[in-house]
Amino acid sequence: MCYDNKKIKVPQNTATLIRKGNNMKPAIREINAKSIITKSNLPVGDYCANPYTGCTHACKYCYAEFMKRFTNHMEPWGKFLDVKQWPVIRHPEKYNGKAIFIGSVTDPYNPQEETYQRTRALLEQLKGSNATISIATKSDLVLRDLNLIKTFSNIRISWSINTLDENFHQDMDNAVSIDRRLKAMKIFHDEGIPTACFISPIFPGITTVKDIILRARNHCNWIWLENLNLRGKYKAVIMDYIEEKYPDLFPLYQEIYTHKNRSYWEAMDNDVRRFASELGLEYVTNDDSMERDFDAPPVIVNYFYHEQIKKSARKEALQCLNYQK
Ligand code: SF4
Repeated sequence: MCYDNKKIKVPQNTATLIRKGNNMKPAIREINAKSIITKSNLPVGDYCANPYTGCTHACKYCYAEFMKRFTNHMEPWGKFLDVKQWPVIRHPEKYNGKAIFIGSVTDPYNPQEETYQRTRALLEQLKGSNATISIATKSDLVLRDLNLIKTFSNIRISWSINTLDENFHQDMDNAVSIDRRLKAMKIFHDEGIPTACFISPIFPGITTVKDIILRARNHCNWIWLENLNLRGKYKAVIMDYIEEKYPDLFPLYQEIYTHKNRSYWEAMDNDVRRFASELGLEYVTNDDSMERDFDAPPVIVNYFYHEQIKKSARKEALQCLNYQK
């Protein structure tokens, strides 16, 4: 299933305008979706599920931002959210043995989830399936669903953390503090639920990868690394930001993102590999496996320039719009 911009329409009769956005509040509306779970091309899952379209975390580097033009929204990315209603999943057992990734193009625990509870509804509807479920977030609202999540036998929660510097974090997104993400990770891990720390996107010269590894390593089973990719509209946004806030780093960013020089990433790959070895941690490349002994120390997985993810991400984003016709 692949959509093009002519085929996707937000039907006016089913879209309910709940609150119109202004400078302070995002525009939020409810929409009907044909289904909540769609086939996925990403290596992380057979299916993806995004209970919302849009994302109020509004990360400056969000690759899903291009989806905006398919939604009829005039607001900028981060200033609108479509709350999906979908036909209830009657037979969750049909996903037995399959992998479902929740949150490939939205944060399923954005602040509005507190009110609309669509991610919670999705998990309730999946109860009874033996699917392998991955949830990706930058929030600690997921703690609300801890008891529900514990009822799944094969589930993993990941938090994206790309800095320990709260000022940089606040420049980049509206999500909760890094401290709150790390605390949530610890609580889940202490409860015996597999967790991952997704160090992404790594900003050259800014993201202190080794410090984040040290903070997270006792509270997670996987540490994923992904480099910052710059393409589309947000390339200029990020380059302007670096030039203004980190002028000393600007030549490095030009080297990487204008001249396509990969030597920074190759050096980081070697550096983190050595660091992992010093810490006694396994270090692998492009390994998407969910198989992991819970009590083993975390494995560090390098996804720099993960070609399959790059190819699939855009198609994936369009599939997950999945509006009701
Ligand atoms: S949390 Fe993810 S989907 Fe949401 S704006 Fe940030 S990068 Fe985009």
